[in-house]
Amino acid sequence: MNILKFGGTSVGSAERMKALVPLVTGAGKKIVVLSAMSGTTNKLVDICAALYQKQHQQATLIIDELELIYINEAHTLYALEDYKIKGMDLVKNYFNYLRSFTLDMFTANEEKAILAQGELLSSALFFFYLQETGITAELLSALNFMRIDENDEPNLSYIEKHLEAELVKYPNTNLFITQGYICRNTFGEIDNLKRGGSDYTASIIGAAINANEVQIWTDIDGMHNNDPRIVAKTHAIHALSFDEAAELAYFGAKILHPTCILPAQKRNIPVLLKNTMQPNAKGTLISNVTSGEGIKAVAAKDGICAINIKSDRMLLAHGFLRAVFEIFERYKTSIDMITTSEIAVSLTIDNPKFLKEITKELGEFANVAVEEDQTIICIVGNIPKDKAGYGFKVLEAFKDIPLRMVSYGGSANNISVLINSKHKKEALVALNERLFGY
Ligand code: ASP
Ligand code: MG
Repeated sequence: MNILKFGGTSVGSAERMKALVPLVTGAGKKIVVLSAMSGTTNKLVDICAALYQKQHQQATLIIDELELIYINEAHTLYALEDYKIKGMDLVKNYFNYLRSFTLDMFTANEEKAILAQGELLSSALFFFYLQETGITAELLSALNFMRIDENDEPNLSYIEKHLEAELVKYPNTNLFITQGYICRNTFGEIDNLKRGGSDYTASIIGAAINANEVQIWTDIDGMHNNDPRIVAKTHAIHALSFDEAAELAYFGAKILHPTCILPAQKRNIPVLLKNTMQPNAKGTLISNVTSGEGIKAVAAKDGICAINIKSDRMLLAHGFLRAVFEIFERYKTSIDMITTSEIAVSLTIDNPKFLKEITKELGEFANVAVEEDQTIICIVGNIPKDKAGYGFKVLEAFKDIPLRMVSYGGSANNISVLINSKHKKEALVALNERLFGY
């Protein structure tokens, strides 16, 4: 069994949905995981924001606008009159459901129910299209098997059991359609895997059924060596190890949700990134194989905050780092980069939610300085510990850029450099030239 996930742009219009048919049919059993049509989840977020503020008219306006888009797409999608009617009824039902919230009290649970509608709608529209085309398939509701536990982590044993229970109902079916992103929580309420979570759904399902492969279909031909929005020339990387891909996804490569790799990696299921617009392009295969030595890609992560913690008592003092880390742990704030000297520690966080509280507590035993607007430039590849030259090559690219922190040797897959965000473009261009010859 293969899992194929299609993102928002891949199901973004009737035309795009039709183009999926040759990709999801063909030999072998498949579970197809769909995102909401592009832009929909953003609109649902806007609807919720309006409802929270009791701006019912504004919410209704967004609902009406969005409905119009769906009515048009449904009209184009189906050829037969009865499917046009079926599609229209489906769209109307979903949008009337959204309208029902404009009268009620609005809570977080209702927000989650609204956010789930994008995937429910796209998968149902696509499923009807398959039916119209005469393709045998089953539509599975992710709400029947996707579960998160009390820590918002996927409950894999629950998912295994309940997904299996769904699949055995249809022993002769080769094609299953389901929704990405949406799930239920421990209370059985509708919930979600956070924005961009459809990749995660695909990887979790892949792990749950021990799939042969998880395919993530997007609108770019795999992971690139650099950010194509910033530098003029980039190339797709054909093979990455799980660790390399995880570093890239975490540190800024937008193509993949950072947590997505984990479930597949745990069960050693290869993840293939493919381009819906160019299905024949090779894409990027992410697996447990580390291929080739050297630097493969760079990525940048903005919005980083550097915290410098200086203590004159750190000299020969043990327990200082523990005291520092305990504070971050208490505020559930994870640290990305860390460098130390004998009397000071610099570290970075990407979530400043508790910055005030953290610096206040650190201030009780150290001098604390905070610098915002920092960017982590992450250089990823297979960088053997016994090989000279890689650090030099990387730092040479930064020769005209002030370095705030450098981290080397934490893993054989990563060199990280922290700079002020205003130098990001310059850094990515220089690295593209120095490391990849562009
Ligand atoms: N539709 C959701 C979002 O836009 C999930 C996804 O597309 O991955 O965030
Ligand atoms: Mg996505």
